[in-house]
Amino acid sequence: MLLGAIEAGGTKFVLATGTANGKILTRQSIATTDPASTMAQARDWFAGQSSIAALGIASFGPVELDRQSPQWGHITETPKPGWSNCDLAGYFAGELGVPIGFDTDVNGAALGEFHLGAGRGTSGIAYITVGTGVGGGLIVDGNLVHGAGHPEMGHLYPRRDANDRDFKGTCPFHGDCLEGLASGPAILARWGSTLSDLPEDHEAHELVAGYLADACHTVFACCAVERVVLGGGVMQTPGLIERIGRASAKAGGNYLPGRDKQEVVAPGLNADSGITGALLLAAGARN
Ligand code: ZN
Repeated sequence: MLLGAIEAGGTKFVLATGTANGKILTRQSIATTDPASTMAQARDWFAGQSSIAALGIASFGPVELDRQSPQWGHITETPKPGWSNCDLAGYFAGELGVPIGFDTDVNGAALGEFHLGAGRGTSGIAYITVGTGVGGGLIVDGNLVHGAGHPEMGHLYPRRDANDRDFKGTCPFHGDCLEGLASGPAILARWGSTLSDLPEDHEAHELVAGYLADACHTVFACCAVERVVLGGGVMQTPGLIERIGRASAKAGGNYLPGRDKQEVVAPGLNADSGITGALLLAAGARN
């Protein structure tokens, strides 16, 4: 059975076909422009592939995940121009005539990593991406967490470093939430450079690592996940994941039960966590 997958991002859509066990067979990336052209281009690509039995979509958000809501499968109120109230799931269900699995991009990535990547063999993981924004997906006791909406770990408030009180943060909603302090744009706004271009002994490395470590500690403490998988552009900075691992263990203060199982790790699927998870969403799709 051939399945389709879309990782819908703010800058590109990754399209793929593959199998229910997450193996990607064909793939294509297209630029994210306006909704009508981007979705039509994706539809045309799938029309040129062998026919698929279901489609999984892991989308940037916020999105509506409540199956009872008439807005299910929509991107809801997004700051991205033109994309608010975009009915992604409805469009592809109509155009391709297949059942749709739908979730956030980061829940998709968490699903991919949980089954086939760095989370294999665990009871639960968080997947946090640190890039243009900061977002997190969550699997607890083997299940993706939705609840009221979906997790928004990028907007946790880390504890401000005692020597770092002045920078106000860049999140338009919260100022110095995690995204406002540790995303790529926050780092650029503050230090005029990407983290990887700053010298190894620059204070930015320890500060950013400390804020991300606070988020990891929070997730370990709240959800008792076994691993926090950290992906995204900022995480390509050499040494960053090691710094976060050390700071997260320190934040835990040798206290959390199960801490010997808890680790901060890089993705096992590299840049394919999201698109692989979208294939798994397709495998679980229902009408
Ligand atoms: Zn925020």
